[in-house]
Amino acid sequence: MATVLVVEDDPFVRSALIRHLSECGHAVRSVGTALEALREVAQVGCDLVILDLGLPDLDGSEALKMIRGLTDVPVIISTARDDEAEIVRLLNDGADDYLVKPFSGEHLTARMTAVLRRLGGGMAPTAKILRVGGLAIDAQRREAMLDGRPLDLTRREFDLLAFLASRPGVVVPRREILAEVWRQTYGGDQTIDVHLSWLRRKLGETASNPRYLYTVRGVGVRLEAPVPAGPEQRP
Ligand code: CA
Repeated sequence: MATVLVVEDDPFVRSALIRHLSECGHAVRSVGTALEALREVAQVGCDLVILDLGLPDLDGSEALKMIRGLTDVPVIISTARDDEAEIVRLLNDGADDYLVKPFSGEHLTARMTAVLRRLGGGMAPTAKILRVGGLAIDAQRREAMLDGRPLDLTRREFDLLAFLASRPGVVVPRREILAEVWRQTYGGDQTIDVHLSWLRRKLGETASNPRYLYTVRGVGVRLEAPVPAGPEQRP
């Protein structure tokens, strides 16, 4: 069960969403404008936002940016516009997933469950801490430490690090990274590279002198614990 904020100006869609979510046992609040949504997110908070793109006061993409300025709460975009370029832009702007109207309640539930599971909150909490070498990643609290010091990561950097750390020592294909971290099924090599380089800087390493993050050209990315220094520890 999660507390869901429905941002939707169409009364029919809105009441259908509220009914479905309530039947699934979620607590639901709903608003019809972007400004009300921002107020709700800032003052009350929730576990997940379902955001209609066509709102009367602000364009949904502006609303998304403003929500992202306030909080990391997961946002699922609900749109009548099946415009691939726009959807990619929204995902890059921090949307967690999207649904093209009309969508079924079951489809919504499936997307919500996936988003909340991925973020380690809401319906499927995981308390475990991933440890790889000096890295400790707490998926539930969304905190990462390196050698006992907290890392100041953006949301995507955290998701990328946590996903790679969930499979240490394995070369994770780029398409899987895209699908899992960005919810995209194509493109995005540059996006991954940019985030990797930011992440490397925060981990104090470079592509040419890696400690944790290894790019395997044409294949993917591997995260593994650094080899301990000193000749006596080498095989
Ligand atoms: Ca609308």
